[in-house]
This record gives sequence, structure tokens and C-alpha cells, in this order.
Amino acid sequence: MKKISHLLIGTNNKGKLREIKALLPKRIKIYSTSKFKIKSPKENGKTFEANSIIKSKYYSKKTNLPCIADDSGLEIDVLDKAPGIYSARWGGRNSDFKKAIKKVYRELNKKDKNWTRKKIKARFICSLSIYFLEKKIACVRGKIEGTISKEPRGNNGFGYDPIFIPREKKLTFGEISPKEKYKIDHRFKAYKKIKKFL
Ligand code: IMP
Repeated sequence: MKKISHLLIGTNNKGKLREIKALLPKRIKIYSTSKFKIKSPKENGKTFEANSIIKSKYYSKKTNLPCIADDSGLEIDVLDKAPGIYSARWGGRNSDFKKAIKKVYRELNKKDKNWTRKKIKARFICSLSIYFLEKKIACVRGKIEGTISKEPRGNNGFGYDPIFIPREKKLTFGEISPKEKYKIDHRFKAYKKIKKFL
């Protein structure tokens, strides 16, 4: 298979752009969506995989470039896997993550007044896909298991990072340095699987 020499990262989210960019081999010329001023597509899929493909297909078609896109989110078991594919939407129109985190705590309180005394199992999921010339090149999934912290901690990262404690660690993703987070997170695990298609 011919190696990919240039690739568009199909996201308008700066945090994700930074993470995906850091993962890709240096030989690939990277494009970001900000250059093209393309609006984000409607993510109306029912799974992470479906939404990831909606994005890679859409941005690839708009730019005629091979495109890698992800769809990711946080699943909390006691909330029936919410926010799940709605993770970004819990932040409202302005992707206000403080608001999204408040909603997590509100929902947990609604579900169980004593939740802070329990282990609240959660995981980040990432589906990564590559699309080019109307064809799906690859679609994979990575995940990292962990728990929800009793209060937000740390200012690193983005999204739900301040409330997620990866398994076998004491610190939240908001407290861990970005360098360390990238090496263990769901996006990295998905990337390891998709690497061979690049
Ligand atoms: P989407 O994949 O752009 O639809 O949105 C995924 C959403 O899930 C983000 O906006 C974040 O709220 C959340 N999310 C995904 N990955 C991470 C992560 O690594 N840290 C924190 N939050 C994340």
C-alpha cells in the first residue's frame, strides 16, 4: 500500500488537534481544518465509530485530502454510559467544559447521594478513522479505564480531564502532564492500532 504523505486532521477542537498532531509521523505533511474554514459536520451517528467516520468522510470530501478524524467521549457506568457520544454536547453551545463537569456531578448526585463514597467506574473511548477518495481506509477504537474524582483537580488538558483518574494512578488527567497523558490515553491506544495504515 502507498504511504500517506499528507493528511488533514478533521477536527475543529484545538485540544484534539494538538494531541493527534503530536502522534503523527514527522514525514507526513499535516493540514488542519482552520486553513479551510470548514464548518463542523452534524454528528448524528449513534456510536463513536459512526461519528468518527461522518467526520473523516466529510472533511476528506471537502478538501480532497486524506483525512483522519476521531470521535471520543467519556462513559460513566452508573449513568448508563452517559455522556458517551454526547460528551461534547454536555458543554453546551460554547463547549464550556466547566458546565459539562457540573452536569456530571449533578447527574451523579441525582443517581446516588452517596456516590462520593463509591468507585465511579468510567472510561474514555476514542474511535479513529481515515477516509480518502470516498473510501474508508481504517476505523479503530482505543479506550482507557478509570474512575471519576470527587471534585475537579488540575488545569492540564481539556474537557473532562480534571475529573478522570486513570486506573492505577492517583492523579487526574488534569494533574498529569500532557506528555504523560498522551502516552497512555484512549487516543494514543487507537493511534497505535491505526498506525499501520499511514
Ligand atoms: P467529539 O469527539 O469532538 O465529539 O467530542 C469529544 C468530547 O469528549 C470532547 O469535547 C470532550 O468533552 C470529551 N473528551 C474526549 N477526549 C477527551 C480527553 O482526552 N480528555 C477530556 N475530555 C475528552
